[in-house]
Amino acid sequence: MPVPLSLGLTIAKYVVSQKLKGNKRYPLVLMLEPLLQCNLECAGCGKIQYPEHVLKRRLTPEQCFKAVEECGAPVVSLPGGEPLIHPEIKEIVEGLVARKKYVYLCTNAVLLKRKMDLFKPSKFLAFSVHLDGLREEHDHAVCREGVFDVAVDAIKEALKRGFRVTTNATLFEGADPERVRAMFDFLTDLGVEGMMISPGYSYSHAPDQHHFLKRARTHELFHKILTKPKKAWQFNQSPLFLEFLMGHRDYDCTPWGTPTYNIFGWQKPCYLLQDGYTRTFKQMIEQTEWHRYGYRSGNPHCRDCMVHSGYEPTAVNDTFGSWRAFVRTVKLTLFGGIGDGYDGEKRLGLNGNGQGATCECGSQPSGKPVELAGAKQ
Ligand code: SF4
Repeated sequence: MPVPLSLGLTIAKYVVSQKLKGNKRYPLVLMLEPLLQCNLECAGCGKIQYPEHVLKRRLTPEQCFKAVEECGAPVVSLPGGEPLIHPEIKEIVEGLVARKKYVYLCTNAVLLKRKMDLFKPSKFLAFSVHLDGLREEHDHAVCREGVFDVAVDAIKEALKRGFRVTTNATLFEGADPERVRAMFDFLTDLGVEGMMISPGYSYSHAPDQHHFLKRARTHELFHKILTKPKKAWQFNQSPLFLEFLMGHRDYDCTPWGTPTYNIFGWQKPCYLLQDGYTRTFKQMIEQTEWHRYGYRSGNPHCRDCMVHSGYEPTAVNDTFGSWRAFVRTVKLTLFGGIGDGYDGEKRLGLNGNGQGATCECGSQPSGKPVELAGAKQ
């Protein structure tokens, strides 16, 4: 069975069983950060501004396994920092694979070729390589020349050795839709299993504060990028989430869908905000004031956030919450056609000169959802 299908079935089984149990808040993807240290200093990153003594701390493999057992999510993403710096990353990955978790090791790939021997190809393991664009854009985003070529070289090697490889791109203000589409063509030709895209979160302590996308601009940008997608492009994310980015769907955040565990504990409410930590997963679920988060909450920190970690679980829940959404997901997954059947300009609420208007996504800033009139599903 092809991996995306077996992964899809695992997630479907898991979500249905959670719904049958009546669980209101359940995790889909555990964001397990084994360390916060990185070997790059990207301008849009809000994770590396910790003092040296914090950056040197690591989770042990046992702490990682305990978090995985506590949380129970079927998918584990290993971001960071750069996980390949961790001296026990081999043991961590082996332990997660042995527990039959679908592991996405997120890496900038600078060390990937050198460390590849540590890992064995498995349907449970994928390298998720950070690529924010083609050579020029990516090297600019990571603030170092040559990183794109190193990453592409590592991707080729990993594919040659039979590893699953996906990519993840974070887009900021100024991204050129045509260049992003060209990157999709390039990565498709390379043979990656799937691509992931997300707008960047406006971290208040990231070095570059001028290129974070506002909500209307996000819709505008992703609409241009994803309209008439090529059949060959494969995304490893929900097509409904991509339609949300394009402005066709009215979703709010599901922050408990992707809980984060790192050296400080379980992070409230999501990996983007610093509203405290708890010792156990249960405490985090029970003690977080969830109504304070998400677009409709009015929380200024959530106002422009449309990142995959908050909204992809909403799309997955939607898929299993109604037949219409389920059928559309299956149709888009099998036959493509993201965004078909919508009046893009109308949905985006763009005004005559193509600039984003105030009510751009079917939600009002007051927090009151409005109907998605005209959406054909
Ligand atoms: S909207 Fe974004 S910042 Fe706010 S809780 Fe959700 S994921 Fe976190």
